[in-house]
Amino acid sequence: MQIAVIGGGLAGLTSAITLANRGLSVTLIEKKSYPLHKVCGEYVSNEVLPYLRAIGADPAVLRPASISRFMLTSPKGVILESPLDLGGFGVSRYTLDHFLYQVALAKGVQVRLQTAVQDVQFADNQFSLKLSNGDTLRAEVALGAYGKRSTLDRQLNRSFFAKRSPYIGVKYHLRLDMPTDLIALHNFEDGYAGISAIEDGRYCFCYLTTRENLRRHGSIPDMEQATLQQNPHLRRIFSEAEFLYEQPEVINEISFATKTCVENHMLMCGDAAGMITPLCGNGMAMAIHAGKLAAEQVVQYFENGRNRQALEAGYTLAWERQFKQRLQLGRAVQRLFGSPLLSEVAVGTLRYLPAAVRLIMRQTHGQPF
Ligand SMILES: Cc1cc2nc3c(=O)[nH]c(=O)nc-3n(C[C@H](O)[C@H](O)[C@H](O)COP(=O)(O)OP(=O)(O)OC[C@H]3O[C@@H](n4cnc5c(N)ncnc54)[C@H](O)[C@@H]3O)c2cc1C
Repeated sequence: MQIAVIGGGLAGLTSAITLANRGLSVTLIEKKSYPLHKVCGEYVSNEVLPYLRAIGADPAVLRPASISRFMLTSPKGVILESPLDLGGFGVSRYTLDHFLYQVALAKGVQVRLQTAVQDVQFADNQFSLKLSNGDTLRAEVALGAYGKRSTLDRQLNRSFFAKRSPYIGVKYHLRLDMPTDLIALHNFEDGYAGISAIEDGRYCFCYLTTRENLRRHGSIPDMEQATLQQNPHLRRIFSEAEFLYEQPEVINEISFATKTCVENHMLMCGDAAGMITPLCGNGMAMAIHAGKLAAEQVVQYFENGRNRQALEAGYTLAWERQFKQRLQLGRAVQRLFGSPLLSEVAVGTLRYLPAAVRLIMRQTHGQPF
């Protein structure tokens, strides 16, 4: 086998499709199966559209919501509004990942579902992957697209893995009377929540807060009542929306720490190489873009004499050019909205500085690719 892709999220699926389109033999290993819900705000920047269309995965068939306006509120409910220059679309991960999986199968990607990669060794110029079903796979090139945190990170001895991260994420799907072309970000003490339309007249409502906030209040409903609902816009959502899950999806250990984009000769893509804060609403586009950059380098590797050093150096250069600054700015923006006082001041000031708002958005987003 030529290429193993570890993880079938957005980075893994789109890179596998691209490589298969170029006639390369690709096996993708995903520890879960599709369709599946994921904690994510489900707003995708339109910058991904040219690439998704080019690889034969135009999301228009999923009838996503089209989103062109942005609203930000402070914990007290002060409103800032702005058009979204590039805009985006809203579609659930349940639908999007499943769709990309079907495209991958149609293009000839070999997919192993419900199989985790437990160990990756590199020796004699090839990778050896130990799978949870006992099999061993060998590949000439490996892409690490397994998301923000995996036991593989411990096995690779990556430094961020040892540090606990304070953040947790919670997600619901709901129905609500709200414009479908608007994405709203509502701050509250100790976090922020995003809401925007997805397919089928539903909305994704997702928030990031701290483990400490949850510990203080004991349960998710108590925390939502005591902190989120202090923001009048969030109070309205909780009182008027029809919540479509019995229980929310919840994840913890969300880390925005710096990571490396090549690890043990593997090209790391998406959150596995670095996660941008959800406040910037751009992690999915970055994952897809990183998958594209990795796939392009791998195609060159097979076409131009299989020089591994050139492969790793070329990918590092392309990745850093595209994402390094964006990730740094994302961390700074996250700090700005980390405290109620700072976010009150930030929203109160930025609402009179529309040019600054659009500049921050441009700097945290990429160009169409
Ligand atoms: C609260 C929150 C809100 C967000 N909101 C948005 C938003 O509105 N817009 C946006 O663009 N981004 C958003 N993001 C970010 C976005 O979700 C991620 O950046 C994106 O999902 C990264 O894609 P990925 O392919 O790197 O990883 P993932 O989509 O996480 O995929 C990784 C895959 O690897 C699999 N896997 C893991 N370990 C193994 C293993 N050992 N073997 C095999 N498979 C494995 C997993 O099961 C998973 O399917 C948000 C994130 C959070 C936490």
